[in-house]
Amino acid sequence: MDPRRAPVSIFNMVNDDDDVEPPPRINVPPHVVQSLHYLSLAFRPREEPKINFRRPFSPQFISSRGNEYFCEIDEEYLTDRFNLTGLNTEVQYYQYALDLITDVFDLDADDDLREQIEKSARHLYGLVHARYIVTTRGLAKMLDKYKKGDFGKCPRVLCDQHPLLPMGQSDLPNQKTVKLYCAKCEDIYNPKSSRHASIDGAYFGTSFHNILFQVYPALVPEKSIQRYEPRIYGFKVHATAALARWQDARREEMKDRLAKLGMDPGFIESSEDENDESDDEVDDDKSEPLEEEAAPVADNASARMDTGI
Ligand SMILES: [Zn+2]
Repeated sequence: MDPRRAPVSIFNMVNDDDDVEPPPRINVPPHVVQSLHYLSLAFRPREEPKINFRRPFSPQFISSRGNEYFCEIDEEYLTDRFNLTGLNTEVQYYQYALDLITDVFDLDADDDLREQIEKSARHLYGLVHARYIVTTRGLAKMLDKYKKGDFGKCPRVLCDQHPLLPMGQSDLPNQKTVKLYCAKCEDIYNPKSSRHASIDGAYFGTSFHNILFQVYPALVPEKSIQRYEPRIYGFKVHATAALARWQDARREEMKDRLAKLGMDPGFIESSEDENDESDDEVDDDKSEPLEEEAAPVADNASARMDTGI
């Protein structure tokens, strides 16, 4: 028997009588499938609501569905040619696009050309946006949006709904779509909505989210040492437990080194820290909860879940 036919599947049952060979199975790793999916989103024409050429461009662009991550660029910034240096080679119909953005567009163009110019104007606005959000005014505007949670919350459970910041993985357009950065776990995530997932990452750039925390250091969240520990019926899974022990030891080493240099390591100190080396099996509910309210309940619940009761 053909080993490829061994597993029973609907495909095989239907074709059993024919001599048709089933197509070879290609094993594509999941991360490749996901990359292709996001790449296809990036180049899929978005159904953008039409821009009314008689009304100001910026407010229409900002209020369009899917453009919630953008802040409005000041008129003075847009009209200062110095800020747009080099973008004329990046955008088709540059001058018309700029006229449209700065609300001085006055051309009797047909629908096709208007559509092209509108598309260019959106692209130009995005590229200027990446430059604008690292200025003092732009940072302040994005900070407001960050505080309101306009960019979403971290999906990691232990980050406790920490707000995210949009970021690019490349400063060049048409490379990567926008991602979201969580300052608490220092990791990046894909946006939930496909409208957001198709935005070009270059409209935010690779540096904005880091500059924001340089300019507003008080906003850097305290690093949490809380992490998920895989357990089977209450017992730590061996490989991850070994990794956790190694990481704990490295952290202690680093804290000692920083202490010798008189620097604050920035970790939330847990009351059980002194016992860490002697007691590797510290339970979740012994470590200090980040938020006083509701945390003990959640910890007890997770302990119950872990033991499988
Ligand atoms: Zn996070």
